[in-house]
Amino acid sequence: INNKEKKAVNRIFENGAVFFRHGFDNIRNNIYNVKTFEENFKNYIGSKHALAVTSGTAALRVGLAAINIKPGDEVITQSFTFVATVEAIVEAGGIPVIANIDENLDIDIKDLKNKITKRTKCIIPVHMLGTPSNIIEINKIAKKNEIYVLEDVAWGLGGSLKNKKLGSHGDMGAFSFDHAKAMTTGEGGMLTFKNKNLFLKASAWHDHGHENNPRLPRWEDSRSSSGFNFRMNEIQAAIGNEQLKKLDKLINFQISKKLNLSKIVQEYNFRVRGK
Ligand SMILES: *Cc1c(COP(=O)(O)O)cnc(C)c1O
Repeated sequence: INNKEKKAVNRIFENGAVFFRHGFDNIRNNIYNVKTFEENFKNYIGSKHALAVTSGTAALRVGLAAINIKPGDEVITQSFTFVATVEAIVEAGGIPVIANIDENLDIDIKDLKNKITKRTKCIIPVHMLGTPSNIIEINKIAKKNEIYVLEDVAWGLGGSLKNKKLGSHGDMGAFSFDHAKAMTTGEGGMLTFKNKNLFLKASAWHDHGHENNPRLPRWEDSRSSSGFNFRMNEIQAAIGNEQLKKLDKLINFQISKKLNLSKIVQEYNFRVRGK
């Protein structure tokens, strides 16, 4: 984090100090950091759409809202993840179903198949420690059973499988920009989409149900769902745009340090399986 982020934030103060992602068109000098960040991020990932939110947890929660998770719906995730993955399911009213992990620390395909029932609505594979889940196989299983796939890419930003970035394989991908992740906006997150309809639903849910009809003033806007306030603000996005430009360099820097990945995986295996 250096002068680039500082300058990007200063630019907001020098151009009307608009922190809100919407509106104030006459004073912001055509600067829309959140919109730009979504555009840049979706291009980086290679997804059709992207929605900036306030955290990775919010990204997961909004994703589950967009596919209309209802009480009693089962959502399968894995035993090794951060608590937020399960919190998002519980807060959506769903039932978290926990599958085992494999030797890559990702969801175990055999156990995943065993956990599918008639009530399964969604699978959340987590690309742990940058190791990609077997997302190709997961997609096949999901398609066959008519289940959504929401990738938790909090640890997998920048990684790819079969020349496609993680987060562009499933129906949606949830990213975190908290202070401990590969890139940061202080707190923040992003949800990526293949499908425009899911994007529009998620966009409304994250913004009190607002459909942002350009022909209506915001206070008369149309709504067809309930919602939350998980909107990213302009300051976070200004930082995010600068961080994103540095991301590949940062990842290559880590690789060039020649970290002994198999040793790290072994240590984690020992710790996880040791319990
Ligand atoms: C960090 C993390 C999240 C949540 O992200 P926040 O931005 O901290 O809310 C979700 N899932 C995993 C696997 C994480 O590591």
